Amino acid sequence: MDVESVYIQIKRDYFPRWDSNNEWKLRIVDDLYGAQSGCNAESKTITLVRDCSIHPGDPKIAHLKVILIHEISHATARGFHEAEWITEMEKASEKAEYIGDMELARLIKEEVNRYIMRK
Ligand SMILES: [Zn+2]
Repeated sequence: MDVESVYIQIKRDYFPRWDSNNEWKLRIVDDLYGAQSGCNAESKTITLVRDCSIHPGDPKIAHLKVILIHEISHATARGFHEAEWITEMEKASEKAEYIGDMELARLIKEEVNRYIMRK
């Protein structure tokens, strides 16, 4: 499964009302100034660093899904890692549970907790 098809699957399953005209683009780069992913609302681009999905202990695809959900939640929420973004992430986690992807539901919650604890 390539990154583009994971992106399409995440859009369809988790953000069905977002970007219905397919205006947003997914861009894969070799370097993103130290970050692993980003979301630019102005250019409607989600950027991932190649191999950003490798994360110790996690299967590659599951972590890639978390990164995509993280970035698309920025596209659909105002602010940064604040209330609206957290709500989007929590909704995605509930959706994962509903679909039966318990591992992804857990990883999304972990991702949110990482940002809540940083404050
Ligand atoms: Zn973020």
